[in-house]
Amino acid sequence: MRKRVCILYTGGTIGMKPTAQGYAPQSGYLRQVMDAIPEFRAPEVPEYSIHEFDPLLDSSNMGPRHWQSIAQTIADLEQDFDGFIVIHGTDTMAYTASALPFMLDGLAKPVILTGSQIPLSQVRSDGRDNLITSLMVIAQAPVPEVCLCFGNRLLRGCRTTKVDAAGFQAFDSPNYPDLGHIGVHITIHEHLIRSPKAFSTLLVHPLSEAKVGALRLFPGISAELVANVLRSPLQGLVLETYGMGNGPSTDDALMDVLTKAHERGVIMVNCTQCLRGTVDQSTYQAGSALAECGVISGQDMTIEAALAKLIYLFSLNLSLQEIQKAIVTNLRGELTPADEESTLVYV
Ligand code: ASP
Repeated sequence: MRKRVCILYTGGTIGMKPTAQGYAPQSGYLRQVMDAIPEFRAPEVPEYSIHEFDPLLDSSNMGPRHWQSIAQTIADLEQDFDGFIVIHGTDTMAYTASALPFMLDGLAKPVILTGSQIPLSQVRSDGRDNLITSLMVIAQAPVPEVCLCFGNRLLRGCRTTKVDAAGFQAFDSPNYPDLGHIGVHITIHEHLIRSPKAFSTLLVHPLSEAKVGALRLFPGISAELVANVLRSPLQGLVLETYGMGNGPSTDDALMDVLTKAHERGVIMVNCTQCLRGTVDQSTYQAGSALAECGVISGQDMTIEAALAKLIYLFSLNLSLQEIQKAIVTNLRGELTPADEESTLVYV
C-alpha cells in the first residue's frame, strides 16, 4: 500500500522566492514548484498532502508558540497519515527538532524535519533531494521519532545542531550516531532508533511562557553581566562553559552570583561550548566550583536540546527538585546515560 504523508510547510529557504529585499517565502509557491517536478509523482514516492502554515516564516522568526502549532497539527492529523514531514528553515531547525520530541509524548510515527540551502525553484537546489529522501524514508522504514533529514544524513532531532551556514551537509549530531545514511541506498540503523511506548496515544504537552535563556562564557565575563542575565523573572539558564564544563572559578563575585541565583530557584544547566563531548563537572576544580554553586551538568546535550528541555520541564508545573532530576535523566534520547556511552558506535 502506498504510504500517505502530510507535509507541514512552515517556511524556510526551500519555498522562497527572490525579492528586492532578498529571499522571502510566498504562499502557494512551494506547491507550484513541486507540481512542476515529475519525480514527486513517481509511484515509489508516497502520496502527500501539503498543509501550509500562515504566515510562512523565515525560521529566524520562529519560537515556542510556532513549535506548539506544529506539534498540535501533527496530533490533530496523526490518525490520517503514516508520517509527517516538517518543511522548515534551516536557521532554527535544530531548535524545533529538539523541542518537538518533548512535546509529542507517545509518538509512534515518523516526523522528519527538512529544508534546503538553495530554494527548490533554483537549478542547483538541494531541496529536491532532501524532500524526496524524507518521503522515501517514510515509505521505507518505520522510524517513530522526530528526525532531521539533510544532505546524506538522517539524525535524531534532539541531537542536532546547525554547523554550516551554506554547505549541503548543514547539520551534525555530534554526540549520537546517525540514525541513517543516505547514499545509493537509504540505510536505517534500526538498533539506534527508539521504540515507541507500547499502547500509547499521542499527547501534546503544551508549552508555557517559560523564562529561559542561554549565556556563553568568555574570558573576562563580569559578575555584573551574569547577574543581569540571571535577574528575575529568569527561571532557567543554559550556561555555555569551557571544555568539560569549566568556568572562572577564582572569580568569587561570579561564583556568588551563581550561588544566589541557585538559592532563588533558578535552574542552571551546564553545557559545553565544544561541539563534541560531555560535561563532567568533577574533572577540574574549575568545574566542581560550578557544581558547588548549584549548576547542574547538562552532560552531552546540545544547547538547543537543553533550552527546549528547560522550556518543556517548566511547562509541566513540576517542583524544582523534579526539574533538577529530569534535567539529568534521558527523557527522549537527548542525552547519553553514563552507562551507555561506551556502547555507541559512530558510523
Ligand atoms: N533564513 C532561512 C530560514 O531559516 C534559512 C534556510 O531556510 O536555510 O528560514
